[in-house]
Parts: sequence; structure tokens; C-alpha cells
Amino acid sequence: MPARETEAIILKTFALGEADRLVSFLGRTSGRMRGVAAGARRIKNRYGSTLELLAHVQLWYVERETRDLVRIQQAELLESFNKSQSDYELSTSLALVSETVELVLPEHEPSEPMFRLILLTVREVERRGNGILPLSYFAFWTVRLAGWLPRFDVCAECGKPFADRPAFQSASHPGLVCGEHRRSGMKPVSSDARHLAEVFTREGLAKLDAALESQPWARELREAALNWIEHHTERKLLTRELLETP
Ligand SMILES: [Zn+2]
Repeated sequence: MPARETEAIILKTFALGEADRLVSFLGRTSGRMRGVAAGARRIKNRYGSTLELLAHVQLWYVERETRDLVRIQQAELLESFNKSQSDYELSTSLALVSETVELVLPEHEPSEPMFRLILLTVREVERRGNGILPLSYFAFWTVRLAGWLPRFDVCAECGKPFADRPAFQSASHPGLVCGEHRRSGMKPVSSDARHLAEVFTREGLAKLDAALESQPWARELREAALNWIEHHTERKLLTRELLETP
């Protein structure tokens, strides 16, 4: 079979045998796939070092009729995110992005909006040296692109407007509710956090002021979005526990 070529983002890699790597990646034209990079763990391998968490690469692979895994022939680094990959806190942010993408995107289905969202998120983590705002933006947009975003203006239970009062959310409910319908374990989403969601829908992440990073709203919104992702996928995001506690 002829080799295929795609721009890709490396989602995860695992050691396989003594010299190989199992690679999960999101291809811009192929969607999410898994493949084997033979010899990638050998020191002199020419592409093994490009297979880093959320690295932006050009990949060449061959599909095999009998197996689920493709064979990765070559990878060239298009964009490196060294600072984020080598810093503990920043790499935790990248790991959460990777885990979310694996949970939300089905295999073999290209998603141009998600591909661009991930690249933008990682670039901003790298540029800012801070993952708070990029992660909040990423989680919010992932929920929005999946079609899971609830109403931000009225209670999902009784339809009363929140106005300036806090709304409440948890992973066991798909929407935002008012104080009257708050259940145990639900966390507040302040009117500032709901306003930030509006800002996220109309402003690019690169334009957002660094001052927002020190406000609690970015985390409030991130926590709500991650809870909705867990609610709809019926899975836990394990990397979440490694984030700083909000
Ligand atoms: Zn209500």
C-alpha cells in the first residue's frame, strides 16, 4: 500500500517492545489514529525524538489491511513545544488536552476545528508559560464544538434568569442551574465566569489579556466545561487531579 501523508498532532506514545513506539495521533486529514513507529526508541532513529506530547509534525504512514494500527514510516517536526513539554505544570496542561481529545474525538474522523483548537491551545501554553487561560479556553470550546454547551443565561430546571447571581454546575448534570435547584456537590459559576464564556466566543485566545489568568473565573469556567465533558462521555479525566486545585 502506498504511504499516506498528513499533518498531525502527537497525542500519546507508549514503549512497545525494546525498540518501537506505539503512537496515538490526530491527523489533520486522517482523524485520530494509532500506529507503530518501528525503531523509534533507538538513539540514532531519525524521527523518534519528534514523537513528543502534542508535537506538531508531518507524518508518513502506511495502512495495513489486517490490523488496526498503521505503520509510521517517518515524522518531521513542524513546531516544537519544548518549554511546555519539559515543565511539570505546563506538561500537565498538555496531558489534559491530550486525554480530552482521546475521550471526545472518535477514531478516523477528521476534525479541522478541533485540530486548530489544539494547536492554538498548545501554542498559547508555550507562549504564555501559563496553562490557566489556554486550558479554560480549550475546555470551553471543546464543549461548544461537541454541541454540549448549555444555556448560560437561565436555569436548566426552572428557566429563571441568573442575572448577576451565580449559577451552579457538576459532572452529574448537563446544564447550569439556579441557587434553588442547586444539588449537593455543585460548584458555582459566577456571572464573571459566564461573561468570560462570551469573551471566549468572540475573541481569539491569543488576544486575551494575561490579567485574566489571576482571576478565579478562568478556572471556574474550565471546571464547568471539564465536568460537562465527563458528563457526556461518562468517563473521568484522570489528568485533572494533577492540575492545581482551584
Ligand atoms: Zn432553577
